[in-house]
Amino acid sequence: MFDVNEIRRDFPILSRQVYDKPLIYLDNAATTQKPRQVVEAITNEYYSVNANVHRGVHFLSQQATELHEAAREAVRAFINAGSADEIVFTRGTTESINLIASSFGEAFVNQGDEITITAMEHHSNIVPWQMMAARRGAKLRVAPIDERGEILMDELLGLISDRTRLIAVAHVSNVLGTVNPVKQIISSAHAKGVPVLVDGAQAVPHVAVDVRDLDADFYVFSGHKVYGPTGIGVLYGKRRWLEAMPPYQGGGEMIKDVTFERTTYNDLPYKFEAGTPDYVGSNALAAALRYVTSIGMDDIAAYERRLTDYAMQRLAAIDGIRIFGTSPGKGAVISFLVGGIHHLDMGTLLDRLGIAVRTGHHCAEPLMHLLGIEGTVRASFSFYNTMDEVDALADGIVRVARMFR
Ligand code: PMP
Repeated sequence: MFDVNEIRRDFPILSRQVYDKPLIYLDNAATTQKPRQVVEAITNEYYSVNANVHRGVHFLSQQATELHEAAREAVRAFINAGSADEIVFTRGTTESINLIASSFGEAFVNQGDEITITAMEHHSNIVPWQMMAARRGAKLRVAPIDERGEILMDELLGLISDRTRLIAVAHVSNVLGTVNPVKQIISSAHAKGVPVLVDGAQAVPHVAVDVRDLDADFYVFSGHKVYGPTGIGVLYGKRRWLEAMPPYQGGGEMIKDVTFERTTYNDLPYKFEAGTPDYVGSNALAAALRYVTSIGMDDIAAYERRLTDYAMQRLAAIDGIRIFGTSPGKGAVISFLVGGIHHLDMGTLLDRLGIAVRTGHHCAEPLMHLLGIEGTVRASFSFYNTMDEVDALADGIVRVARMFR
């Protein structure tokens, strides 16, 4: 097992102070901090390699292209995709889902068809489907969850009909922390001939993901949540789907030949990558994946398991706390409310203690409606957090609660 204090030295921001107090950063589900290795990948590339990729014969352009394509291969290996052609770089989870909703929708969704999601989805796994459904005359079906925050599997599978074109489901909930049984969902959906998209935004940073073992049709995630830079993300799609889907945007890179009359499109994955790609971002994302791989995804998962279990135990013992999401084996996310204290007040006062948590609906308003609340306070953990920080969070919550009594 790694030494967390040694790890923390890789993240300069973790040793800064806020309000003259040591920063305790517990907003990792929103975005993670960056290790030196990632920041250096960015500066090194701008200082010594920068040139536009794919189109240049000159030295720098070729070197930048090699880095960009090596990054694609690094992503492929990280999620065990079968081919780098199935890895499309996007701006993030949101753009990946919008791309699929748009292109898959155009190719496969017609009047009266259905897309099935779950009650715990992030807005970015709801709204693109609503927009596409409105364009195609399709309907959105929503699988319910139970009081622990687990999908009611029978209900989900019961929603699958001969009109179901796709199931889109989060691997890990960004509010409840629930780790959904995506492998089981995929095999049940496949038995009925329905493909599945997995929103892996909250899974990829925490557990080893193997898209071929899952047999996912689409798997998407964001670089910035897995210690990489902002503005780069990944869409994995099985070749048979990607080949059958039309391009999402038009422009450079995605074409083979263009005349004013007609255009032929490039091969995968370039067909879906119009314009200059974020080649500095892709290289830095690869650095992030190398970084977490060097620590070991299994060690990361084991450490975060201990951290989350300890945090659940400490927080559950607080008077008047309500924790949303109590599924066994849940991910490193704890959403809560204490007594009648508004989530914003709790978040603001914790912030004054140097503790960064997120407050609000966490881009899951329909879930908040279902829970009958407006929002929660959310603490989310990374392998660079410590048991002492969990103690500080628990003590901080108690201190704030006392102020309101
Ligand atoms: N899905 C889930 C489950 C998320 O947690 C998030 C980010 N909060 C997103 C999608 C959207 O990710 P991004 O904003 O990086 O596109």
